[in-house]
Amino acid sequence: MDADVVVIGGGPGGLSAAETAAAGGLKTVLVESSEVGGTCLNRGCVPAKTWISAAHLLKNTRLAAEMGLIKASSESEPGGMALDSAGFAKLQSHMREVVGVLQKGAASNLKKAGVQVVRGKAAFLSKKEVGVNDGQEVVRFKRAVIATGSRPVELFPKLPGFYDTDDVFGVPDFPRSVAVVGAGAAGVEMATFFNGAGCRVTVIEVMDDILPFADAEIRAVLKREFKKSGVNLMLGAKVAGASSQSGRCALELEGGGLIAADATIMAAGRKPNSVGLGLDKAGVGSDVRGYVNVDGSMETSSGGIYAVGDVAGKARLASTAHREGVVAARNILGTPDRMDYRVVPNIVFSDPEIACVGPTEDDLARTGEEIKVGRRHVRALARAQAGAEITGLFKVMVGKDGSILAVHIASPSATEIIHGAAVAMAAGMKADALAEVVFGHPTYSEGIILAAADAVGGRPRHA
Ligand SMILES: Cc1cc2nc3c(=O)[nH]c(=O)nc-3n(C[C@H](O)[C@H](O)[C@H](O)COP(=O)(O)OP(=O)(O)OC[C@H]3O[C@@H](n4cnc5c(N)ncnc54)[C@H](O)[C@@H]3O)c2cc1C
Repeated sequence: MDADVVVIGGGPGGLSAAETAAAGGLKTVLVESSEVGGTCLNRGCVPAKTWISAAHLLKNTRLAAEMGLIKASSESEPGGMALDSAGFAKLQSHMREVVGVLQKGAASNLKKAGVQVVRGKAAFLSKKEVGVNDGQEVVRFKRAVIATGSRPVELFPKLPGFYDTDDVFGVPDFPRSVAVVGAGAAGVEMATFFNGAGCRVTVIEVMDDILPFADAEIRAVLKREFKKSGVNLMLGAKVAGASSQSGRCALELEGGGLIAADATIMAAGRKPNSVGLGLDKAGVGSDVRGYVNVDGSMETSSGGIYAVGDVAGKARLASTAHREGVVAARNILGTPDRMDYRVVPNIVFSDPEIACVGPTEDDLARTGEEIKVGRRHVRALARAQAGAEITGLFKVMVGKDGSILAVHIASPSATEIIHGAAVAMAAGMKADALAEVVFGHPTYSEGIILAAADAVGGRPRHA
């Protein structure tokens, strides 16, 4: 089979690269060993957010009960609302439906764009050939895009009751207690779901803090909320051993201590899917961890071969993978384009949600640049008081020349609100100009203009 472009992997990076190349008139073949949509759709963003949406519904119901708007259904559960096995089974079938709808959408978009999909595992045979399923089929290409993504790091063998983010969405029984290993975005989201669903949750993190990309004050908000809602957050704790007995998991901690739980979820990092890809045969270089080296146009060390998404190890988000795929395809089409990672929102669907764009205050302090920091507490917003969700903080970091260097938020809907800040930063807007924009009232988004006004010493506004 001959192709102008072969794309290996059908996650967000591969899909956008293939669709952009095909829309540009190139004969494009996409090789996918599993389901289109990749980690994001099948084992990541989408299932996780379906779970978290359910936890959010339960939380709102609990809030309604606390406010006396409805009666709690049981005395034994906090607020009377927790997920049981039957409820979890319903949620799982809803999740499968959501994934199915979006898979069909992805397959239909590929078809409409004219991308030919080949099922199988691909590996380079040379700089111009990819073999599928041990070379049973050969695709001769002019250009290639590697979009094979990443997989969870295996900390211990998969004993009964032990899951990683690849298989946890298929957990057969609803656990009443969960241990989560790792407090990055995936671990925090797992803790948020299981805690919101009424389980006992312990989070074990080897580093001394959660979510390293988030500002310290913003992290502190979430840590306080975890504590208030009963999550046992163990920072600076290392798992030294794991065992499984009679359907219960046990985690031994270094220096003593034992955590027992119905289920353990390992969310302690990911590694690139680059082993067995035949990178050496194609002359594609990678770093010591296996991430494929790319330049700003997403081209690898082998001319005409590009790499995008998690396997290229840049931001390791579905959002950036999608944009990197477009950049690679545009360069293949002869329209020069480059990635710019300066304004990439990092979002976490915790409670409250966390959303950050730009460096933390501590990172900025390390550069020695003089900065101004504006703050607005969520509880000072009329929208927050009206909705009885008052926890959180907005921070806007501003440079000497008035440019917006970073915006970090812990707030209900932070994962939506952050994009107003990202647009302002991408457009090069100054903080005083942002503070003067009229935002709708009463909204959580007002926190951005109020924090910007605070940073530049603007007039206090009502909100
Ligand atoms: C629990 C969880 C939650 C997440 N939530 C978010 C979120 O809210 N927002 C966000 O932006 N990101 C999120 N992410 C990260 C996001 O899922 C990834 O960054 C994104 O999927 C990477 O896209 P990709 O195209 O690089 O690779 P992937 O999505 O991993 O897709 C790679 C594809 O390549 C295929 N493949 C691999 N090797 C081969 C081969 N040799 N031949 C053929 N096919 C192959 C795989 O089967 C897979 O389908 C989350 C991740 C996890 C685990």
